[in-house]
Amino acid sequence: MTDSAERVIVVSGGSRGIGRAICTALSAPGRMVHFNYNRNLDAARTTAAAIEAAGGQARFEEVDVASESAVADYLNAILKASGRIDVLVNNAGITRDGLLVRMKEADWDAVLDVNLKGTFNCMKVAAKAMMKQRYGRIINISSVVGVSGNPGQANYVASKAGIIGLTKAVARELASRNITVNAVAPGYIDTDMTGDLNDSAKAAIIAEIPLGRIGKPEEIAGVVAFLASPAADYITGQTIHVSGGMYM
Ligand code: NAP
Repeated sequence: MTDSAERVIVVSGGSRGIGRAICTALSAPGRMVHFNYNRNLDAARTTAAAIEAAGGQARFEEVDVASESAVADYLNAILKASGRIDVLVNNAGITRDGLLVRMKEADWDAVLDVNLKGTFNCMKVAAKAMMKQRYGRIINISSVVGVSGNPGQANYVASKAGIIGLTKAVARELASRNITVNAVAPGYIDTDMTGDLNDSAKAAIIAEIPLGRIGKPEEIAGVVAFLASPAADYITGQTIHVSGGMYM
């Protein structure tokens, strides 16, 4: 499949931040970009406009990726309408930070359910269609902290480390069907998720980044677009760190 061929793309959590940048980067004439979101309809409309400005067609829906049945209904409806899913990007993610000894069970469960189980839920349905097609590109958004660890984020770090293992297992399962499965591990990226940091916290983070600045959503989206492109056809099971050198 070439870059210019008609493609059906699905991005989870496309309404804001990195997800919006990914939707925009994957949009082009001939592409159908489906994305879901949690509750932010206005933001979803802004993403749809960006997809269309880049020449693609946008379709969006409110779907909780943590719900296996909601994800199955959503993706099966896309398959019914479009006949295929070529690219799946599992980007939806949340944080509920706190120290281990004070972490509530509900906060552990919420983060694991959205970040890790959500990725499993989406891959499970899309992979069946990709196996029939004998083509698919799956890109999972992990995090640098899934490899380095981070105090105060036991739930989030566990979910992001889990995504790396899940990516490798599924890459091995699906490789014979010409389906690649890779992860992208962003460092600190300027989005709502990191927006709460005060200036001194930001300065402390920047001091840990060899390239000396916080990243932009477009810098993650560019790597996702590469992994979805024919240039990456021989790459699977990998985690690409896009963190300004935070992890080497
Ligand atoms: P963000 O600005 O908070 O956006 C999160 C997106 O996920 C939104 O579109 C949100 O929808 C959606 N979402 C949340 N819960 C969902 C659910 N249950 N079902 C479906 N969609 C849901 O976050 P971001 O910074 O762009 O992060 C995107 C991904 O990159 C996440 O997986 C995050 O862990 C990862 N990441 C981010 C950074 C960073 O520094 N920003 C670093 C490493 C990794 P609504 O708009 O409706 O809420």
